[in-house]
Amino acid sequence: MKYALVTGGSRGIGRAICVKLAEMGYNVLINYQSNENAANETLALVKEKGIDGETMKFDVSKQDEVEKALNNWYENHTEDIIEVLVNNAGIARDGLFAIMKNEDWHDVLNTSLHGFFYTTRFLAQKMLRKRYGRIINIVSLSGLKGQAGQVNYSAAKAAVIGATKALGQEIAKRNITVNAVAPGFIKTDMTAELPEDELKKLVPMQRFGEVEEVSEIVGFLASEKASYITGEVISVNGGIYT
Ligand code: NDP
Repeated sequence: MKYALVTGGSRGIGRAICVKLAEMGYNVLINYQSNENAANETLALVKEKGIDGETMKFDVSKQDEVEKALNNWYENHTEDIIEVLVNNAGIARDGLFAIMKNEDWHDVLNTSLHGFFYTTRFLAQKMLRKRYGRIINIVSLSGLKGQAGQVNYSAAKAAVIGATKALGQEIAKRNITVNAVAPGFIKTDMTAELPEDELKKLVPMQRFGEVEEVSEIVGFLASEKASYITGEVISVNGGIYT
């Protein structure tokens, strides 16, 4: 059986990606950090598509948790493969750089960048052996253009963009593609506190995006149809120039 793992699949963009991959016929592994109820809601949506799935609790920023969960899974799924990985888990801890707390810097980097590292390194080894794989990293407009008040988040996402380009080149010959999707303002819990009426004026389309507008491109990049695209960053931001 072919599986896709979506980190941070319990809510928001990750949930929409889980549903999209289920529609494409993938069994979905729905990772989450703490929100078990939300993860189970995503699982129910995946099952509505007639597809099997599992919730998988681990903190992407903790190497031991990542490897323990994935090793356990492989021990119980000797015939199955994870051929799609979506590194979606991410947090924002916004604030002015000059007074930024150490923990706000490290938590954001640990989740987006180190989470990418631990999860992708583990699964890339498996994909290299199978000579096929799709890795998609959810980055951000902030990682492309930089965003005042988000130096930590911009740094984390820009780092993942660099890693996407480098890893894409490193493993291209084994038929594994590595791409990034950079959303702008998308309606999720992460953006719920933002002044949408003000910020949407900055968007040429004059609105925030929906999670499905991100998951569609992720689905394409995860498909065999995207076989000659790697190391690329695709913006989904309503026309904000980057
Ligand atoms: P949400 O805050 O709605 O959801 C975050 C998800 O990440 C949850 O599933 C959460 O799990 C999970 N998560 C957080 N930390 C960890 C961790 N350490 N280990 C495992 N899972 C974790 O976020 P969005 O859906 O808005 O964002 C998804 C991705 O898209 C993020 O990488 C974000 O940076 C990026 N993005 C979002 C934009 C937006 O406008 N919304 C714009 C640009 C980029 P749990 O439910 O257990 O807490």
